[in-house]
Amino acid sequence: MSDERLHLFDLNREALQAFLARLDAAPWRAGQILKWLYHQRELDISCMSNLSRSLRGEIAALTHTSLPEVLEERVAADGVRKFLMRPIGLGEDHAIETVLIPDGSRNTLCVSSQVGCALGCTFCATGKQGFSANLRTADIIGQAWLVQGRLKALGDARGITNVVFMGMGEPLANFEPVMQAVDLLLDDCAFGLANHRVTISTAGLVPGIEAMTGRTSSSLAISLHAADDELRSKLVPINRKYPIRQLLASAKNYLGSLGPRRRLTMEYTLIRGVNDSLADARALVGLLADVRCNINLIPFNPIKGSHFERPLMRSVREFQRVLLASGLASIVRKTRGDDIDAACGQLVGRVQARRKLFAGERIQAVAAAGSCA
Ligand code: SAH
Ligand code: SF4
Repeated sequence: MSDERLHLFDLNREALQAFLARLDAAPWRAGQILKWLYHQRELDISCMSNLSRSLRGEIAALTHTSLPEVLEERVAADGVRKFLMRPIGLGEDHAIETVLIPDGSRNTLCVSSQVGCALGCTFCATGKQGFSANLRTADIIGQAWLVQGRLKALGDARGITNVVFMGMGEPLANFEPVMQAVDLLLDDCAFGLANHRVTISTAGLVPGIEAMTGRTSSSLAISLHAADDELRSKLVPINRKYPIRQLLASAKNYLGSLGPRRRLTMEYTLIRGVNDSLADARALVGLLADVRCNINLIPFNPIKGSHFERPLMRSVREFQRVLLASGLASIVRKTRGDDIDAACGQLVGRVQARRKLFAGERIQAVAAAGSCA
């Protein structure tokens, strides 16, 4: 029998207010309920003591508060933690991965927005896996809720400081659930993160970027990877539909809606002999000269079944030097968690193949230090 009750973790403040209106309860009650769920971490509605007994009874009868199930947790040598989770209502063959990246004063959480991905970028493990399902808001915010609880249990008082939608899936292909999760990440009665600390990363779904304008104020990262359409279409097939000029125009327009102090992030995965030459770097300079952005250079993380190779560190540095010399802000993103396949593009959520490997053990392999966000 399917559960017809509303899922409280699916509701942002606005949706919660609409639900409360049906019960003739005041809209400001929404803030109280959010604080119970996200600050007090109270899942039992009958314990929400500043609501009247009758209101608690009505809410309890009409809603539930289930969360994704944590199937496994692994810790890399560099402290990166990868969680394998089963989304609400889906079978174990639909697992997703969530990665926590501690780095100095930050705890960055990399969340998944879909099970698999339909966009088929040729260098990405999630893309090779294909699309299985969209996540609901409760699955997305649930990843953050669960990891926040884990950090608390570990005695980490900072909690999650940044969230990036760079896990499995294309966030803008699952627009409303992702936006509602972002609302909750930004809401002071829920996670209360500053808007520049939440980043949506997209392979370039232009209608989604357009729809973000006026809808949210989170940061935006564009997975660019090439400065010309011919090469980009090979690496990121969605480029055939939304070519670079159109993509950059929509991204700049979104940035304009955020005000003068914000910047875009451009992600550029460097693949040996494919897009890592000095000529590629110069083309990128030409393309981004008038775009207010930081460029994240990501050395390709090897994945199964791909002939692509990681670039030489020397060519990464030379590439970066060209960008810096022309005044483009750029960092080389250090590989994190790759001993547990938690680095960018390595997420596949394969339960069967992974089960034995996980087994709750701590992985003591050597890993490089750095940041994924
Ligand atoms: N679908 C979104 C977000 C998830 S992918 C997007 O494409 O932006 C997060 C980032 O990891 C993207 O920039 C993606 O291009 C990059 N990535 C994917 N596979 C990779 C790999 N094997 N090595 C390095 N980066 C990779
Ligand atoms: Fe999907 Fe992003 Fe991977 Fe492309 S890089 S296949 S959009 S998850």
